[in-house]
Amino acid sequence: MKKKVLALSLTGLMSLGAVTSVSLPAYAVGEGPNYGGNESIQTSILHTYEEMVDYLKTQEAKQSAMELEVIGKTVKGRDIHLVKYISNPSNPTILFLTQQHGNEQLTTEGALEFIKHLGTNKTKGVLENVNILILPMLNADGAMGDVNFSLEDYVADGGRHLTRYNAVEVDLNRDHVEKAQPETQALHENVFKKYKIDYMIDLHHQGTQSERDGKLVSGSILYPTNPNVAPEVLENSKKLGAVVFNAVDSTGWGHLGKYVGGTGENIGRNGAAVQYGISTLLFEMRGMSDHYYESYALGQKSNGYLIKQTITTLDAAVRAIADGSIENQDISFWDSLAEQTTRPSSEEESE
Ligand SMILES: [Zn+2]
Repeated sequence: MKKKVLALSLTGLMSLGAVTSVSLPAYAVGEGPNYGGNESIQTSILHTYEEMVDYLKTQEAKQSAMELEVIGKTVKGRDIHLVKYISNPSNPTILFLTQQHGNEQLTTEGALEFIKHLGTNKTKGVLENVNILILPMLNADGAMGDVNFSLEDYVADGGRHLTRYNAVEVDLNRDHVEKAQPETQALHENVFKKYKIDYMIDLHHQGTQSERDGKLVSGSILYPTNPNVAPEVLENSKKLGAVVFNAVDSTGWGHLGKYVGGTGENIGRNGAAVQYGISTLLFEMRGMSDHYYESYALGQKSNGYLIKQTITTLDAAVRAIADGSIENQDISFWDSLAEQTTRPSSEEESE
């Protein structure tokens, strides 16, 4: 076994300044342990929906630049929250969306850390030049396992199970044309249509067994691939991808592949680009918080670097938009970035 113990360099840690309180594992990328049946996956270490709401309200009270808005309710009546930093309506605006799939929670954990990060001096100049919208845990019912179907096969322990689907077993990331679900309706009516959004990163988790160039990946990325996406929207999506790729790849522990995804407009990455001209990026992090397939779930010792990968991504995106450097990104890396493949004996579920 090739082991890259402590590949997280000190300089890498220092560059994140305010967010070093995230506990970091002594594992890099694919070397983090898989769930092997002898390690428990504790969902109790994740924020519950209620804990997340308390956290957001605490941050809103502390941060003058932050505003919290309820944009709708889930099937089971949970308020869906949007975090807003809007200093100047004419600034470019980016939306970070997490947990359309309820069992993909470390992206939310990273987004919550990032919100705290935005309240520190580290990002003082940044917020004057970019508007940030963060929608954490869109699928709160799935995240809390409060659904109208059985989750008894799911592998995690910790008082709740987390599932991909919403309460009525609909995949929200296939509902962006029909918009039949209250969660999707809230996102479209009260976010996509209400704000002039230039960029979006849609954050997900994939299985644990994807690799690129023979090495397990820490995640994968993809721009919108529907044929009706306008050329400039596609180009800016690829630039956003370049910002994220360079930031994660340069950490030493990040290793990204190109995601292999569908062209359907019902997928958020494509639907937002076609319907609203938003330049989008799908980011799939390694490993899910819970699943009925053991190979999809990732042991909790890997949580630290995946949370950090989310923070790195969000931080790099807002800085590149704020200082305009996103405009000058070289998108040619996309032509050489290999599509990830899945190691034999495991199946993959898509975005
Ligand atoms: Zn997903």
